[in-house]
Amino acid sequence: MNIIRTIRAMTSWSERLRRESVIIGFVPTMGALHDGHRALIQAARRRCDALVVSIFVNQAQFGPREDLTRYPRPIAKDRALCREEGVDVCFEPTADVMYPEGFQTVVTLPEIARRWEGEARPHHFPGVATVVTKLFGMVRPHLALFGQKDYQQAALVRQLVKDLNLGVEIEVRPTVREADGLAMSSRNVYLNADERMVAPWLSRALRTGKQAIEGGMKDGAAIERSMRKAIEQAPAIHVEYLAVCNPDSLEPLSSVTHRAVILGAIRIGSIRLIDNLLVNAPARKSRARR
Ligand code: AMP
Repeated sequence: MNIIRTIRAMTSWSERLRRESVIIGFVPTMGALHDGHRALIQAARRRCDALVVSIFVNQAQFGPREDLTRYPRPIAKDRALCREEGVDVCFEPTADVMYPEGFQTVVTLPEIARRWEGEARPHHFPGVATVVTKLFGMVRPHLALFGQKDYQQAALVRQLVKDLNLGVEIEVRPTVREADGLAMSSRNVYLNADERMVAPWLSRALRTGKQAIEGGMKDGAAIERSMRKAIEQAPAIHVEYLAVCNPDSLEPLSSVTHRAVILGAIRIGSIRLIDNLLVNAPARKSRARR
């Protein structure tokens, strides 16, 4: 496996392969790799001839009071996972390679990034949109894979690629979970034993909402109330939002008639967790014609 740190080396590697019609897959990450990342890497491996994983803790997507300095950086372990999964290039740009002196341009966000994570973390999506655009320019992949775990991020990336004609196919893969339902996340290592015990309540609340929809409940506000009631049973959880939304626009649904995405964010102590579930409303029974 190649470890590449400069833009010039990364781009010339990709350009050479592109000239030979090799299909390049790309999985951007912030490292601290877990089985969710592994599943993305494996899916990319199946679809591509050559595979790049980037590991870059992007300071631009952290707010001033967020966890940038303590974000886990187990680089030797991450490289070992990449080697194990047959990754061809581990791209590890440094902060000054990514944001050199004089860097100025920031990507403006689409409407889809306004609510939810956009509201809770105003620095986050501008940083994500900018770094993804830059990484695509450096890695020049044909295909890039993202996790449904960060549903709004994936939606933002799709829109970005479409609006700015970035020419990269985007594939979104399902969320990988722990046995008790907790969505895997690099931030789960921050949870102490008590916090870890209550963390799966987020996914339980989302499942309550999903079951309500599948059982025929349509009223968005009532579904949200049923989720809040479920999660109230758990101690020490502060709900930031639990929302039933249109899966394309991410606007809240007053009535769920087709597909929906249920988005959730909670805080347990100082740790913030997000999760989501896609749901299909039951098909309406067609009335027999008389
Ligand atoms: P991160 O390292 O947190 O920036 O995540 C890198 C990529 O992995 C993003 O596309 C995430 O959505 C994806 N990812 C993170 N956690 C999971 C998970 N539990 N299941 C699937 N994909 C995930």
